[in-house]
Amino acid sequence: MTRALNFNAGPATLPLPALELARDELLDFGGTGMSIMEHSHRGKDYEAVHHEASSLMRELAGVPDTHQILFVQGGASQLFAQIPMNFLPAGKSADYVVTGAWGEKAFAEAQVVGKMLAGTARLAATTGTGDGKDKSYVRVPTDPEIQRDPAAAYLHYTSNETIHGVEFHRIPEAGNVPLVCDASSDFMWRKVDMSRFALVYAGAQKNVGPSGIVVVVAHKDLVAQGRKDIPKIFQLRTVADNDSLYNTPPTFSIYLIRNVMRWVKAEGGLDAIEKRNRDKAKTLYDALDAHAGFYRAPVDKESRSVMNVVFRLPSEALEEQLLAEAKKRRMVGLKGHRSVGGMRVSLYNAVPLEWVSSLAELLGDFAKRNG
Ligand code: PMP
Repeated sequence: MTRALNFNAGPATLPLPALELARDELLDFGGTGMSIMEHSHRGKDYEAVHHEASSLMRELAGVPDTHQILFVQGGASQLFAQIPMNFLPAGKSADYVVTGAWGEKAFAEAQVVGKMLAGTARLAATTGTGDGKDKSYVRVPTDPEIQRDPAAAYLHYTSNETIHGVEFHRIPEAGNVPLVCDASSDFMWRKVDMSRFALVYAGAQKNVGPSGIVVVVAHKDLVAQGRKDIPKIFQLRTVADNDSLYNTPPTFSIYLIRNVMRWVKAEGGLDAIEKRNRDKAKTLYDALDAHAGFYRAPVDKESRSVMNVVFRLPSEALEEQLLAEAKKRRMVGLKGHRSVGGMRVSLYNAVPLEWVSSLAELLGDFAKRNG
């Protein structure tokens, strides 16, 4: 078997040991004579998996006791609507910081929910120019640029914009306002101070598992304050009160998260993972900067993402040629998002440094031949 050098943005490459364990246990989980997929979600075998997944995540990500870890279905996109449904009370306003396409979507959904439930979503800062041109979404705002409403119900931002390759390398100042973060594409690539957040959510399909499941790390007080006049199934309280087992959860996805968490631990935890991720990002950005006249990385250096590296070549024809040459080397997932074009390399936890070094070598060589 030859594994692809998979640089997909999500669903993305998963750690091989996590997949191998799933393969080995697929037909017979722990001598029970059935797959974990076939077990009842109320049975003790599945329950042990469920709790191992969340307790390992708590330990590795440093989630404090004040916060609960929830597994929610529907993708991070569902949370775009579910967060204002829960935490934007009637007559109140919530602040949004927009630094790319995903923040735009979160803000748009909050506006819709606000209209339905008599609240307001307010734009506190954007680094978009509105014309979709070169200078749009190439950086994160400074704290003074974020025009915060001290009475806001919460402040929402996207810590890493997967399409634009723009990442916050600090936690923005929120004062006393609860801070809510979409960390879908940079959750658990390093340790962060979780106590600073009222709520962090992340689609699993980048650093923690397969798609279709969202990890939510929420302060218990915030969850308790959530609205009760929305359907029970959309209340995060329902998930929290039932330990993410209110209805049938995606058991196999949670099982895979458990396998990925075991792998993170075996690798030495998030400190070791962070070091490797920084090496990977440096290797790639250095290769691009070494041929800066050929490759154009549009994002300001201070806001460059460690997870998603975006760049362009002098022409679309050259981009196609590079993709074809990469494909011959079994490198896949390098095409930029269809909305922005160009190239995008995703460097999630399970991408080894060797893949990135091979790609950096190809980039150097390609620039010399075509520059
Ligand atoms: N937020 C961010 C930052 C993302 O990258 C994505 C997906 N790529 C989403 C939200 C939406 O996730 P999903 O497709 O799981 O709804």
